[in-house]
Amino acid sequence: MIAYLFDIDGTLVRAGGAGARALAAVMRERYGVEDAARGVAFGGRTDGWIVRQLILRALDREPRPGEIDAILDDYLAHLGRDLPTSLRVLPDADRVLAWLGARPEVRLGVATGNVAAGARAKLETAGLAHHFGFGGYGCDSTDRAELVAVAITKSGIGAGDTAVVVGDTVHDVAAARACGARVVAVTTGADDRATLEAAGADVVFDGLAPLCAWHQATFAA
Ligand SMILES: [Mg+2]
Repeated sequence: MIAYLFDIDGTLVRAGGAGARALAAVMRERYGVEDAARGVAFGGRTDGWIVRQLILRALDREPRPGEIDAILDDYLAHLGRDLPTSLRVLPDADRVLAWLGARPEVRLGVATGNVAAGARAKLETAGLAHHFGFGGYGCDSTDRAELVAVAITKSGIGAGDTAVVVGDTVHDVAAARACGARVVAVTTGADDRATLEAAGADVVFDGLAPLCAWHQATFAA
């Protein structure tokens, strides 16, 4: 078995800044802070990590118990209103997922810093949700390596099987490496080819299209 664990933002879709806009709106509504999300690098980070950074920067204190979850609830409401107009599906995503998903040796999951509800909103808006049977999410851990480990466990693969993380940032690469997974990196998101290669990606593609041929070349019996 081969479990593919797909990142969402920058890998399957671009949300057009919807996440940053939603968080900025929540910080304005709850705390009266303007431009709270400016200058925070979201790429590859978990939602919980991002919200903690916003609180630290805007309010100069640690989050209080329950505060991050409350902010994320408000965030999801904003996000759901914004996604239908801002989200774009990246080229070949649906076709490549359908091709992989039709193969008997493949299991398709997600490994994303989005909380599960945010991931679902993005994948459903993109028309890609039906491809995935399991996942590791930002609500499983603020540490990306831990949520990748959750996704691997949920995939049901065993010793001798292979996990492949597909993502767009050095954080996807590092998390995969920490879990003993292979990494296919794509340059459609936050980090460029040289950065992804230096981080230790097994292979770097300009988009998802080469993934089918790579799968055949890598895992052909
Ligand atoms: Mg990403």
